[in-house]
Amino acid sequence: MTITDAPSTTNLPHWIGGRPVEGASGRTAPVYDPALGRVTKQVPLASEEEVAAAVASAKAAFPVWSGQSIAKRLAVLFSFRELLNARKAELAEILTSEHGKVLSDAAGEIARGLEVVEFALSFPHLTKGEFSQNVSTGIDVYSVREPLGVVGIISPFNFPAMVPMWFFPIALAAGNTVVLKPSEKDPSAANWMAALLTEAGLPDGAFTVLHGDKVAVDGLLAHPDVRSISFVGSTPIARYIYSTAAANGKRVQALGGAKNHMLVLPDADLDLAADAAVNAGFGSAGERCMAISALVVVDAVADALIAKIRERIATLRTGDGRRDCDMGPLVTREHRDKVASYIDAAAADGASVVVDGRDVQPDGDANGFWLGPTLIDRVPTSSSVYRDEIFGPVLSVIRVASYEEGVALINASPYGNGTAIFTNDGGAARRFQQEVTVGMIGINVPIPVPVAYYSFGGWKDSLFGDAKAYGENGFRFFTNEKAVTSRWLDPSHGGLNLGFPQNA
Ligand code: NAD
Repeated sequence: MTITDAPSTTNLPHWIGGRPVEGASGRTAPVYDPALGRVTKQVPLASEEEVAAAVASAKAAFPVWSGQSIAKRLAVLFSFRELLNARKAELAEILTSEHGKVLSDAAGEIARGLEVVEFALSFPHLTKGEFSQNVSTGIDVYSVREPLGVVGIISPFNFPAMVPMWFFPIALAAGNTVVLKPSEKDPSAANWMAALLTEAGLPDGAFTVLHGDKVAVDGLLAHPDVRSISFVGSTPIARYIYSTAAANGKRVQALGGAKNHMLVLPDADLDLAADAAVNAGFGSAGERCMAISALVVVDAVADALIAKIRERIATLRTGDGRRDCDMGPLVTREHRDKVASYIDAAAADGASVVVDGRDVQPDGDANGFWLGPTLIDRVPTSSSVYRDEIFGPVLSVIRVASYEEGVALINASPYGNGTAIFTNDGGAARRFQQEVTVGMIGINVPIPVPVAYYSFGGWKDSLFGDAKAYGENGFRFFTNEKAVTSRWLDPSHGGLNLGFPQNA
């Protein structure tokens, strides 16, 4: 054990039954400050017994929370929204200290989470049922939607606040109780939000944070009282979560990884395209599921676009997110080294490394997990640099001869999360939107994350399950529909009839 890996005295608790609960499994994982390169706390890794205790607490809270009127539940969420808005700077600091993203980016993440809280406040409108009078003589039919019970959320490291907020505000508005298993890499945001929900008036047990690794995840997947799983993470784990949860009879939405392409046509505004490629390629150090990592450029404008991107990269400041920087470190040393290894792979595969992020001079501690913006031209599509989701500040340029070749490339990808086209030709943009097999599309917009009243989710290996996150998809996911056929007796009733009900 090196000095920087020595366990710190700070141990993060779980949050069960409306209060912090020390981990009891004896297993922990280190949490790093990526800009300092050192361990700042230990996160507990739950045992099967702790999973059972967490789910039991959430189950006990379900009748209490779901039994409250819509008005009372929404008053809690409204208060959470107010508290979060007032204290978001605290949360941003937590995000930066464990994820590494710069403070302004952390603030952006919180703002997008807040959007979903606000959307969840439209629950009274969403939950209005249907009613059909006199569908058969004297018979009315109507529908109501009810909460599922205990719902599980398993979230990734790259958005420790926003991704949980894609789900829990809507789940809670609908009357469910929540068990959140956050990423063990940056777990503190979940505890902070749990404490805020309690302060906002949420009953004890309605929101649980259970820290852990595969043991905790498998425990939730197997537990009969967990009705649904909302997962966000890498594709191999998403596939596993989807198949296991579905086999255990749960409702499941599992959002996976991505390789997002941005297609630049010759008539595009190249300054706009260069800004977009840099923002979407290097924002949050490329650790976004909607990051652009494959820049597909029609050859005629490739040299000009690359020159503009180089100029912009030269102005970027990589460093400690608490300082005046554009881009922070990667989340762990291991991840930083893996991402850096792709630069060697690119050179070995015949690509040309235009800007090598390993040469960066960071504005931060020498032990931080630094890798600067990296630009690689002429990446062969057979290379792992093109095929793998690198999840770091590495932007690959793939040159194509035409629009058709670009679209064929995008559609051949196993992923289908986000994509963007840059063009001034409305007809080409419209064709692109129709022809491309991707779930979220930007037209002269590089990171087309839909607003909260639409839904977020990709196609193909980027989403397993039927329901996207938030928006109406989210509301439907967290509720079960009942259709009621009702007759109040009147003088015309009666008579035996063993035939299948027919309307008359
Ligand atoms: P990850 O798959 O490693 O981890 C996600 C969650 O799964 C974590 O809570 C982790 O503890 C748990 N987990 C990890 N290994 C597991 C295993 N073997 N069994 C059970 N559970 C396990 O993902 P990550 O590295 O935290 O996040 C980055 C990934 O998430 C990227 O692939 C990114 O594209 C993806 N992502 C996708 C979206 C989307 O909306 N599609 C959004 C954000 C992130």
